[in-house]
Amino acid sequence: MSPPPEKAGLYVHFPFCRRKCPYCHFASVPLPDGGFAAWREGLDREAALRSGLGLEFDTLYVGGGTPSLLGPADISELLELLGRHFRLSVREFTLEANPASETGPETLAGWSQAGVTRLSVGVQAFDDRTLEILGREYAAAAAESFLRRARAAGFRSVGLDLMVGVPGETPASLERTLEAVERTSPDHVSLYLLENVEGLPFETVLKNNPVDEDRAADAFELAAAGLRRLGFERYEISNFARPGHACLHNLKYWRYEPFLGLGPSAASHVGPERWSNIEDVGRWVAALRDGTGPRAEGVALDPARNFREALVSGLRLVGGIDLADFRARFGVDLRAWFAPEIAAFERDGLIIIEQDILRIPEDKLLVSNRVLAAFV
Ligand code: SF4
Repeated sequence: MSPPPEKAGLYVHFPFCRRKCPYCHFASVPLPDGGFAAWREGLDREAALRSGLGLEFDTLYVGGGTPSLLGPADISELLELLGRHFRLSVREFTLEANPASETGPETLAGWSQAGVTRLSVGVQAFDDRTLEILGREYAAAAAESFLRRARAAGFRSVGLDLMVGVPGETPASLERTLEAVERTSPDHVSLYLLENVEGLPFETVLKNNPVDEDRAADAFELAAAGLRRLGFERYEISNFARPGHACLHNLKYWRYEPFLGLGPSAASHVGPERWSNIEDVGRWVAALRDGTGPRAEGVALDPARNFREALVSGLRLVGGIDLADFRARFGVDLRAWFAPEIAAFERDGLIIIEQDILRIPEDKLLVSNRVLAAFV
């Protein structure tokens, strides 16, 4: 009997926010006065275009942007639209939410009733000064209240994003954030280092208040240690979860499983092809209307590139890569193929092989770029 076909992950990009945060490098623009009808039309067209791929999806992730600008009725419509074009057997449906969104208990419960199983809340910090520096529109108490209401609304999983390495951050401000994490008791935390991306308004803030890289890394480790103390298990460089709450959709990326992205800037990886969409909303819709297609760029992956990318993605996971599984999947014995590199990294304590699992030790994940670069 042949194995059942692999189910893929479906990502939908909602490209609008109420306004642009000064540090943000995501594909998002302020919500136009006319609303998001053109986005929905583009989505319908793109889903129709991709329906021929014959994929079945068991995870759905609506990210952005600020998809919490979508009400429960919009979420139901979105599911109905996707269901017209694809086979869906969704066991995890994540919606990204901004604590500044005007969401009363009826909206939160409405999302849950519409099918959202997992809420991922972009908190960044539970410290007013840090939130002010980041230009976020809410106070720490409001974020905490949002989390409490979200917890009461019936989602299977509630997660939050935190950012460290922010100018003005102190051990005390980090501690305040960790205390609020303890009080709000989420199921999942994603922990990121603030990136200094050239050309963003935040570049000036960082020029005037530079953040030392080592201090930022220390802050990350301090926060990571705090999360472990609170019972979270780290399962990827930036992701921590309580048992049973790892994000199934994002695991598909790291396990190099197929995913389809719809919407401006969305990325896809299906079979031997990887591509990403046009970022500009207007151009993305126009390309779908005139039939030229929404892709901005794409690459056909040859077998060598395919297994190297799978290796680099898999090494981001704390659990590492099962060498026997990898051999069965890609026909490559990593131990033999990368013998000199692996030996050198083992000597430096940057790689461990135990019981046929190849992994980067957890305390070296943050400095794993050197290892990952050697395998690209
Ligand atoms: S809310 Fe999120 S996606 Fe929107 S501008 Fe701010 S950081 Fe970017």
